[in-house]
Amino acid sequence: MNLSIVIPLFNEEESLPELTRWIQRVMASHGYTYEIIFVNDGSTDASQKVVRSLAESDPNIHSIAFARNYGKSPALNEGFRKAQGDVVITMDADLQDSPDEIPELYRMITEEGYDLVSGWKKKRYDPLSKTIPTKLFNATARRVSGISNLHDFNCGLKAYRRDVVKHIEVYGDMHRYIPYLAKNAGYTRIGEKVVQHQARKYGHTKFGLDRFVNGYLDLATLWFQSSFGVKPMHLFGLLGTLMLVVGFLAVLAVLVLKVVSMCKPDYHFFVTNSVYFYLALACMIMGLQFFLTGFIGELITRNSPERNNYLIAEEF
Ligand code: UDP
Ligand code: MG
Repeated sequence: MNLSIVIPLFNEEESLPELTRWIQRVMASHGYTYEIIFVNDGSTDASQKVVRSLAESDPNIHSIAFARNYGKSPALNEGFRKAQGDVVITMDADLQDSPDEIPELYRMITEEGYDLVSGWKKKRYDPLSKTIPTKLFNATARRVSGISNLHDFNCGLKAYRRDVVKHIEVYGDMHRYIPYLAKNAGYTRIGEKVVQHQARKYGHTKFGLDRFVNGYLDLATLWFQSSFGVKPMHLFGLLGTLMLVVGFLAVLAVLVLKVVSMCKPDYHFFVTNSVYFYLALACMIMGLQFFLTGFIGELITRNSPERNNYLIAEEF
């Protein structure tokens, strides 16, 4: 099978028939063998009824329906597990992404050797409140992830070699960082294609402004996981050592000042009045806690099934 098209959807009943017809048209005109996987993320409207009736007239249409709304990431994850095509395409259900982009995305994966090609909505049809923070968000993601050629991490329209989607786990809200997940899994040939973007025709956006707060927190998590996921002590041990050194110097300062004050009858030094005393106290406690966190992190890592996952490029 050439293509699997994975479409997460949450209350998108109006868009589905039009989207399906459009995809079918593109598939037929290029003679692809394909499957469409509609992952219904707990829609409360008639979406699933629409999907069922679409599937009746086309055996290429499949569906996974969640019992409740779990989020876009879980929807993609389950779609990825079911996908069988050589190239897996993800796109949003709201008609903002154009199926006409699929042939070129398919070509870039199969002929140019990309592991992943991400869409770039260079000209967006979204409100300003969304486009400006998005620019900032992408700039940070580029820095942190080291994938410097991507302008639009969170674009719903992406293409993958099947291998890639079988080796990544998208959970929580991590769909915003799939290129970063892929890179951490060892898939480094990541490309980009400028794609057409439309204004939402039906329904409304499913994400509010909290996307930016959560987006940054998730980025911090991923950065931590990829840098220190299997060696937490390298971070916590360093922080702990720094704290203990500062604490030790502060203790030294307290001692010196006390000794000096004992030698000089007119100089009174009270340990508990000194800023160094409190500095020593705070740093020693924090330093110890960093070390304990590091040790516990190491114990958890030892028991993690992920600790020895490597993507092998070649083996004889
Ligand atoms: N979506 C989903 N589960 C959710 C939220 C959204 O499956 O909890 C789907 C939604 O139906 C759409 C895609 O994810 O197909 C992108 O959502 P939306 O268009 O609301 O996001 P935006 O384009 O505003 O970033
Ligand atoms: Mg949308």
